[in-house]
Amino acid sequence: MDADFLVIGAGIAGASAAFELSKQGRVIMLEREDQPGYHTTGRSAALFTETYGNATIRALTRASRGFLSAPPDGFSASPLLAPRGVLTYAAADRHTAFAAALAEYGEHVREIDMQRAAALFPPLDRAVARYAHYEADAMDMDVHAILQGFLKGFRARGGVLHTGVRIARIAPGWKVDAGATTFAAPVLVNAAGAWADEVARLAGVPTIGLVPKRRTVLMFEPPAGARIDAWPLAIDVDETCYVKPDAGRLLASPADETPSPPTDAQPEDYDIALAIDRLQHCTTLKVGRVTHKWAGLRSFVADKTMVAGEAPGAPGFFWAAGQGGYGIQTSPAMGRVVAALATGRAIPADIADQGVSAAALDPARLR
Ligand SMILES: Cc1cc2nc3c(=O)[nH]c(=O)nc-3n(C[C@H](O)[C@H](O)[C@H](O)COP(=O)(O)OP(=O)(O)OC[C@H]3O[C@@H](n4cnc5c(N)ncnc54)[C@H](O)[C@@H]3O)c2cc1C
Repeated sequence: MDADFLVIGAGIAGASAAFELSKQGRVIMLEREDQPGYHTTGRSAALFTETYGNATIRALTRASRGFLSAPPDGFSASPLLAPRGVLTYAAADRHTAFAAALAEYGEHVREIDMQRAAALFPPLDRAVARYAHYEADAMDMDVHAILQGFLKGFRARGGVLHTGVRIARIAPGWKVDAGATTFAAPVLVNAAGAWADEVARLAGVPTIGLVPKRRTVLMFEPPAGARIDAWPLAIDVDETCYVKPDAGRLLASPADETPSPPTDAQPEDYDIALAIDRLQHCTTLKVGRVTHKWAGLRSFVADKTMVAGEAPGAPGFFWAAGQGGYGIQTSPAMGRVVAALATGRAIPADIADQGVSAAALDPARLR
């Protein structure tokens, strides 16, 4: 089967790229699982914050806000963003880190006193937390609606998604041998998440040193009678633990970053216990029955910036990888960046104006 573009991986990186590329030509997307979004995309904390990640990540996030706030007609029947807010707190001995964060994120956050912090997030343990700042514009994202919106738009323009695909070989040109079927296109986009380096190896393309890191999440019942819906996401300044409301329950993570081979990540008992211990140290919350738990892989390259652009020495092989812990909130801008680079165009001006350069994303920087 022939197309203009082959996209490998139907997580948010592949879906957003396919959405944009389908405006330029025929796109075939290949997914190994039976459903899109099964791996990292389906396992996130669903937070949009402009104070997370390095300068390029924050620029990509800023550049994505407009799309997520006002998506194109027909993209989604419901809003993609809902107010949440982020409360960051610090103990007395973490003042230096707190002041540095405040200085770096100045325009997005403001320092608040502990009375206000406790009003926003009543379980804050004021014996531990001494400083706080608040990002009022941080939002919850409807990740399912975002992913489905990209897929719907891609299909509406004639894009075809094949699921359950087992790739055996990838030959330059690019020809993807998947058993009974061969898929071919002059441009291939590698959006295989934690497996992106494995896909590169299948194609004989130099890898980018991608390291998948496991992060664990648990959900539990809130305190009886607590009105949690308006609580912000609460996180300590060193990102060792966070908690936020999620559909009537509380979602928490020990913010673990354990290197892992690419796999169907599962939560470890140790990390669940660590989350509970840290949460009960910084807040007055008591974790009773854990109602759900899961883990996902956040994949990073050395500088923790995403990778987009043509692989050195492999014409037509483009990366869309290294989405780390911010792949959903940056997906509208990243989809446009990947599509622009894969069709020989410059990064769109509105995204470049935010401070995103092709050099910062270029796979060649990782050689
Ligand atoms: C606990 C946790 C919390 C997070 N919180 C947030 C958050 O609040 N905000 C935010 O923006 N981001 C967050 N993230 C990060 C975000 O989820 C990721 O950056 C994003 O989902 C990565 O998307 P992806 O498409 O690169 O990867 P994936 O969703 O993993 O998609 C890659 C796809 O490629 C497929 N694939 C792999 N190999 C092959 C192959 N050989 N052939 C065909 N298909 C293949 C896989 O099956 C998979 O479906 C969080 C992540 C975790 C784990």
